[in-house]
Amino acid sequence: MISFQQALAAVRQRASPQPDVLLAADATLGHVLAEDLIATEALPGFDNAAMDGFALHDAHLALPPGTPIALHGVQAAGDARFTLGAAACRIMTGAVVPEGTATVVPVEEATVHSAADGSQTFVLNAPASAGLHIRRTGEDVQAGTAVLAAGTRLQPQHRMLLAALGISEVRVRAPAKAAVLCTGAELVDDHAALADGQIRNSNGPYLCAALPAMGATVALYRRMPDSAVAYAEAVRAAEQAGCRIILSTGAVSMGVFDFVPEALRTLGAEVVFHKLQMRPGKPTLFAVLPSGALLFGLPGNPMSCAVGARFFVQAALRQMQGLPPEQPLRAMLQAPVRKKPGWTLIQKAALAVSDDAQLQLRVLAGQESFRIQPFAQANAWAVLPESDTALDAGRVLDCYPLQPRLMEWPCVPASA
Ligand code: AMP
Ligand code: MG
Repeated sequence: MISFQQALAAVRQRASPQPDVLLAADATLGHVLAEDLIATEALPGFDNAAMDGFALHDAHLALPPGTPIALHGVQAAGDARFTLGAAACRIMTGAVVPEGTATVVPVEEATVHSAADGSQTFVLNAPASAGLHIRRTGEDVQAGTAVLAAGTRLQPQHRMLLAALGISEVRVRAPAKAAVLCTGAELVDDHAALADGQIRNSNGPYLCAALPAMGATVALYRRMPDSAVAYAEAVRAAEQAGCRIILSTGAVSMGVFDFVPEALRTLGAEVVFHKLQMRPGKPTLFAVLPSGALLFGLPGNPMSCAVGARFFVQAALRQMQGLPPEQPLRAMLQAPVRKKPGWTLIQKAALAVSDDAQLQLRVLAGQESFRIQPFAQANAWAVLPESDTALDAGRVLDCYPLQPRLMEWPCVPASA
């Protein structure tokens, strides 16, 4: 049996980056940039006022303090640029600064006087300096520069930047199509009445919910009885639907009805590993189909299924999206834990931040692989290393948020 780390490495080695596709910016959320994104426009695109106030030219700045300055006209956001005459003008935030503007004085820093004939002047409350309150062309982004690096997973903050720069199409890694195949004669979907011995299918809905957050699109979802023929037929259907990643649940253990290895033989698949030194998820199987599609035979126990998806499927999907291996968070164990040597244990855990800004990790009660409720209370998986038997409180461990992070948090070395 191979180790958890060896299994992860084998998955990464077999997964290759997806081709890239040009998508409308609105359709790119959650997808990964396939190339550096170059701005074709500057941001701001023109010099504009940062405050509501008055646009003054050089001559106004040279006047002795207290001299009334004539005020004529308004430059509002959206107005075309005009040239400043002898008078100063009102200017609004975001308005293009008129030709000849030396500075913008905020409304609060001047006092306006209106004459009976409707004309207006203002006096500066304090001497003004040149070049203030103007947002300069390209101050935020210069045209021709790279604004986002290849490998960025696009999120709403990136959408804001694309929109501001007028970028309407983006080249991203094509989202991988995935299939979810649930095996088991005992399975019933959702709220249908249960006959004796039946259970509800919880793995299928879980995987369908978890996959999009990992960057895959579920293109096929099937539940099937315990039949190698039905399984092989469903795998073929998944490949025909263009799925590059196929997840099945159940039928990979030692039972009489654990037919997945046999079905894979009939399909000519290469089984890369089957069974590993990890709990939950010892029976996990990973195979490559002749078409190159990756098949994950996840055990039926809900936690084995969840761990297989979170670690192995996620590792494959990162590779397919051109992303480097995920970096764990590091957190301090709050209470001691005992374990058998030779097994990597992946445990439901609660991560919290202490008052002194330490990430603290608590392994939850109820680690059996059939127990779903503690999973719903957890926010992380703690990885208890293979070689350890006794992990003391204060020990720093690798852990992973239940849902993959959308962006990496840079690791800052602990200060001395
Ligand atoms: P298996 O891996 O097929 O031997 O199943 C192991 C355990 O997981 C059994 O108790 C199954 O009833 C249960 N199980 C299998 N598939 C599912 C599923 N889709 N949802 C919930 N439990 C399942
Ligand atoms: Mg089964």
